Amino acid sequence: MSKQFAVIGLGRFGSSVAKTLHSMGYEVLAIDRDSGRVQDLAQILMHVIEADSTDEMALKALGIRNFDVVVVAIGEDIQASIMTTLILKEMGVKKVVVKAQNDLHGKVLEKIGADKVVYPERDMGIRLVHNLISPNILDYVELSNDYSIIEVKASKFFDGETLQSLNIRQRFGCNVMAIKRNDKYNITPSAKDVVRTGDTLVVIGHNDDLQKLEEVCVNDYEA
Ligand code: ATP
Repeated sequence: MSKQFAVIGLGRFGSSVAKTLHSMGYEVLAIDRDSGRVQDLAQILMHVIEADSTDEMALKALGIRNFDVVVVAIGEDIQASIMTTLILKEMGVKKVVVKAQNDLHGKVLEKIGADKVVYPERDMGIRLVHNLISPNILDYVELSNDYSIIEVKASKFFDGETLQSLNIRQRFGCNVMAIKRNDKYNITPSAKDVVRTGDTLVVIGHNDDLQKLEEVCVNDYEA
């Protein structure tokens, strides 16, 4: 049986999570205390319920304990977000993913047992800045505090070179995971594969090393 998801808080983030799960064919229970939000989403999703997630009895009645993953997407009302997380973990929900408003909120969530804390606004801000600093950086995914994956547009620096001659592993300490050309991904690039200007390279590495690679791209772009 496929995983069962519940999403609590149907603001922009929560409703996007719920709609995406639905469009991918998963069953999702969406919960909000605001009847307007519930009505809006009831047009799209099968199971949308009006309930206050700080009410333990209400959550029990919904059988929330049996869901594999519960996403808490309550933003502004930090107290409600913390109480909801605490109740869910005390009830024994296996995986609780919570959206944090700020670092302090995130720390509290981790202390009370949230299994994953996400910071969508902060992460999107970081990704945008990387793209603004270097137009050649198309995307940026933080794996941990130290490691990331970037999508970088190959500039003149790379043109006509093979992965071997570019020697990115030795020179920058990063690994090219994939090369994209004309919407086609080569996900098993070999040392002999030639890179062309305009190709997209998907590179994994330590943030310091990726930054060195980004600098080459920026300098080359401006030249
Ligand atoms: P976004 O940025 O994703 O739009 P936000 O950070 O502004 O969201 P809010 O709008 O504060 O977050 O909260 C998201 C939703 O959570 C709202 O629709 C709100 O009604 C709902 N919500 C807040 N508290 C509770 C609660 N205790 N029980 C159920 N739903 C709640």
